[in-house]
Amino acid sequence: MANSNQTFDLGVAGGGPAGLATALLAARAGLDVALVAPKAQEDHRTFALMAGAVRMLQRIGVWERVASSTAPLRTLRIIDDTGRLLRAPTVEFHADEIDLDAFAWNFPAGPLVRALEEAVADEPRITRFETNVSGVTPSEAGPILGLGDGTSVAARAIAAADGRGSICREAAGIAVDRWSYPQTALVTTIEHDRPHGFVSTEFHRRTGPYTLVPLPGQRSSVVLVETAKGAEDLMALDDDALGAELSRRSHRLLGQVRIAGPRAAFPLSGLLPRSFAQNGIALIGEAAHVVPPIGAQGLNLGLRDAAMLAECLTGAPDPAAALQDYDRRRRTDVVSRSAAIDLLNRSLLSDLVPAQAARSLGLFAMSRIEPLRQRMMREGVAPADATLPAIMRADDDTPSARFA
Ligand SMILES: Cc1cc2nc3c(=O)[nH]c(=O)nc-3n(C[C@H](O)[C@H](O)[C@H](O)COP(=O)(O)OP(=O)(O)OC[C@H]3O[C@@H](n4cnc5c(N)ncnc54)[C@H](O)[C@@H]3O)c2cc1C
Repeated sequence: MANSNQTFDLGVAGGGPAGLATALLAARAGLDVALVAPKAQEDHRTFALMAGAVRMLQRIGVWERVASSTAPLRTLRIIDDTGRLLRAPTVEFHADEIDLDAFAWNFPAGPLVRALEEAVADEPRITRFETNVSGVTPSEAGPILGLGDGTSVAARAIAAADGRGSICREAAGIAVDRWSYPQTALVTTIEHDRPHGFVSTEFHRRTGPYTLVPLPGQRSSVVLVETAKGAEDLMALDDDALGAELSRRSHRLLGQVRIAGPRAAFPLSGLLPRSFAQNGIALIGEAAHVVPPIGAQGLNLGLRDAAMLAECLTGAPDPAAALQDYDRRRRTDVVSRSAAIDLLNRSLLSDLVPAQAARSLGLFAMSRIEPLRQRMMREGVAPADATLPAIMRADDDTPSARFA
């Protein structure tokens, strides 16, 4: 039996960005939500969020709480720095070619999570339990969440946003495929002498991409994918030496570089579940997919999960049918993007000439063939409008797009 005498419409496990967004979107859609989430830990990453995610944040009133910490990415530049015989030409994509202000905005994790937490605290339909989920028990009326403080909460459906090691996913009986890459991403923030001009630059190197992503002012965030040993060596450098190394690897594109924030290392891995919802539990964010930080897809996918779950549950008389719908509607986006990121990463690592040729030819074709280039830009930013949750679409006026 649950301790609280209320049965919530939705129980959300996990207070990372995906869980907080799920709680907020569901509450704005009129659902009573139990959010079971300890305070999020400090995170020094930044997230490039695409136009659809930003549109959603604007519509739920989170954008204005965090906008001053973000910078737009108006141009994406890819530079082949593999030093291999078959090298791709430098390619630039401009957002205005597809009528966008920017492809994405770069959000530091701290201010984004704080803005979501403030909005959650202001939302009367959300009851927050600041503790862990300790287990999930099925019942006739829906799953019951056991909480770390010994109490429990009943809900008609559960959103498992409790990260890559999700215990809710395990409780749902959903099997996963996991894999790892021989790479680690080093992240930090830099200050530089030259302005970035709102251009995000990705150097394709033999060990993985090295990406400089604009922040407000003359600052950028760094995501440098290296071999595990290479990352370990870089992590051991002092700030001056690391700054000099980052400057050298960027061919001084931004002039002299200084380290301007903490650093962190993330070993790369991948995870895909066999199902996105089962036994009253829907998977959200990294509980549903882990992808390498290439092409800034991870949290964009997570926010699409959040918005799609709220959309499927809105007005649904039967949560089980709504979760089946969610499973069906998230599959293509998640599986196809995970496969594309995996392929791109492996083509960089591969010493096989056909893999290098395919990557170089692909980039060459994109630099020259306008319809292909525009299609790739649109697909990179978001899946086709029909598969995008309504609240993320540019000009949708359906009831669920107005629920904010
Ligand atoms: C180097 C790097 C760069 C990245 N850059 C980008 C980018 O530019 N753009 C982008 O879209 N994505 C990016 N990503 C991906 C992005 O970081 C993730 O998709 C995102 O952080 C996942 O958020 P989440 O809320 O799903 O998971 P998490 O942030 O891991 O949150 C899970 C939460 O669940 C909580 N939790 C765990 N167990 C329990 C439990 N039992 N009960 C209750 N709560 C629990 C945890 O405390 C945590 O707060 C990047 C990733 C990396 C590694």
